Amino acid sequence: MSADCLFCKILHKEIPSTKVYEDELCYAFPDIAPKAPVHIIFVPKEHFASSLEITEAREKVVGHLARVAAQVAKEKGIDEGGFRLVMNTNAHAGQTVFHLHLHLLGGSPLGGMV
Ligand code: 5GP
Ligand code: ZN
Repeated sequence: MSADCLFCKILHKEIPSTKVYEDELCYAFPDIAPKAPVHIIFVPKEHFASSLEITEAREKVVGHLARVAAQVAKEKGIDEGGFRLVMNTNAHAGQTVFHLHLHLLGGSPLGGMV
């Protein structure tokens, strides 16, 4: 828990969210300002700021986020149409919350640079 972290507050129910998925390692909830018909955020329960802090010990949870996000994409029926997993890091990528997270975006064609 990091005292000033928005996603830690969501994890500790100090800020409300709608649970999409939860297990011992991670929690998922809809983005408050969705950029696609399906836009879900996956966060590890352990606080760390970004991909720059992925240590060997954290490889498991980061892989877990990707697996679970793909599973939720299937459950939401956006797997065949396709979806995007995004992990922003620092300012040029537009990271605004410094608790590592994976965005699941889909449900309609996605524009973008990559
Ligand atoms: P970032 O830009 O850091 O990759 O993603 C942060 C995301 O958190 C943004 O897409 C933003 O809409 C979302 N967000 C910010 N505050 C809240 C909140 O209070 N609740 C939820 N559900 N999402 C939030
Ligand atoms: Zn945090």
